[in-house]
Amino acid sequence: MLQYFAQLEHYEGNEVLFDLIRMSMVSTIAGEPLHIHAEGLRGTGKTTIMRKAKDILPNITRIKDCLYNCDPAHPHCPHHRDLSVQEIAAIGTEEIPMPFIEISHSAKVGTVAGSIDLGKLTDNSNPEAGLLPGLIPQAHRGILFIDEINRLADTAPEITDILLDLMGTKPGVVQIEEAGLPVVSVKVNVSVWAASNPDEDPGALEEIRRQLSDRFDMVCYMGRPTSIDVITRMLKENFHTRPSECKPEDEIRYLEQHELYTQILLRWAERYTQTDLQDIVRNYIARLYVKHNMESIRAVEAMQQGAVLYSITKDRDHATINDVTHILPLILKHRLDPDSLVKVINDIDGKDSMLGSAKKVSSKPEQAEDTSYYQNTRAL
Ligand SMILES: [Zn+2]
Repeated sequence: MLQYFAQLEHYEGNEVLFDLIRMSMVSTIAGEPLHIHAEGLRGTGKTTIMRKAKDILPNITRIKDCLYNCDPAHPHCPHHRDLSVQEIAAIGTEEIPMPFIEISHSAKVGTVAGSIDLGKLTDNSNPEAGLLPGLIPQAHRGILFIDEINRLADTAPEITDILLDLMGTKPGVVQIEEAGLPVVSVKVNVSVWAASNPDEDPGALEEIRRQLSDRFDMVCYMGRPTSIDVITRMLKENFHTRPSECKPEDEIRYLEQHELYTQILLRWAERYTQTDLQDIVRNYIARLYVKHNMESIRAVEAMQQGAVLYSITKDRDHATINDVTHILPLILKHRLDPDSLVKVINDIDGKDSMLGSAKKVSSKPEQAEDTSYYQNTRAL
C-alpha cells in the first residue's frame, strides 16, 4: 500500500493531474488560490494523488495559536487584525504544516463555515467576539479538498452555496450566520481541490451545478494506465506490502525526496510572485476571449494565471503563447460544449495542447501524449 507522495506512479494518463496540483500548490504558496478539479473513472488514483500532495506542502508561519492562520505581517482575523506590530510580536509566531483540510459529505454548515458561541457573547452587536471558525476559515493559506463534488452539489445545496461564495472571489469570503445576529464575513485565501467521477450518478458537475463547475480554474480528465510496464510495476509495488513493512532505508529516501520537492515548490512560488506576463501573450488571451465569444471571464483569468504557473513548473522564466495553448483544454473543457471546444483547439492548432485531457473518454489516450514530455517532468 502506498504511503508516500514520492512512491506515486506517474504515467501518461495521470501526469496532467500532477501538472495541475503542482500549479495549484505553487499558486497557493504564493498566496493566490488556483481551484482545480480532477475528473476520472474509479480506480485511476486521482484522490490518492491529491491527498498525498499533503506530504510535500511547506510549513506556514502564523500568529501563535491563531485558528484562522493569521499571517503575522497581514493579520485578518477578528482577534488580531486591529493589533499593532508590537502587540503581535508579543503574542509570537509558530510554524505549522500548510493546511490540507477535507470536507466530508456529512459535514454541517456550522462545521464547515463556522458558528457563533452565544455563551461568549456579551454584546450582540459584535458577534465576531464569539466566533468559532469552521473548517474553511481554518484552511486559510492552504488547500480544501472535496471528494465526489458532483454528489455534494446534488445533495448538499447549502454547502454548495458556501463554496460558491468562497470561490467567487480571490481571496474568497465565508459568511457565518446565526439567527438574530448580524452576519459575520471572514476572508479566506484557499485553493479548492475536488475530485469526481462524471460517469457515475449524478453525472458531471457542469451538468449538476454549472455555476460551481465554472468556479474551478482548471479541470482535468484522468485516464487509466495503458502501458503494460506501468501496470506491472504498480502490481509489484502493491504486492505483499503493508504500510508497516516499508523498509527504513526506503522511508528515509522518500522523506528526503519530499524535502527536495518542498524546496522546489518554494522556489517556484518565489519566482511566480516576481513574474509578469508579456503583453503579447496577454493580448493573445484577450483575442481568444473576444473571437470565440467566451462567456466566462474566469476562463481568461485562469489562462493568464495558468500560463505563468505552467511555464514556471516547467522551469522556464517566462510564459509563451504555447503555454496558453497547452493548458487551454484544462480551462475550457468544463466551460464549452464539445463542438465549441474542438473549434477553439483547431483554431489555435491544438497539436501541442493537452487535448487528451479535454476528452471525456479517449479510446487512444497515448496519441494525445508525448512520452518524452512526461519523462522530463519527473523531477517533481
Ligand atoms: Zn488571527
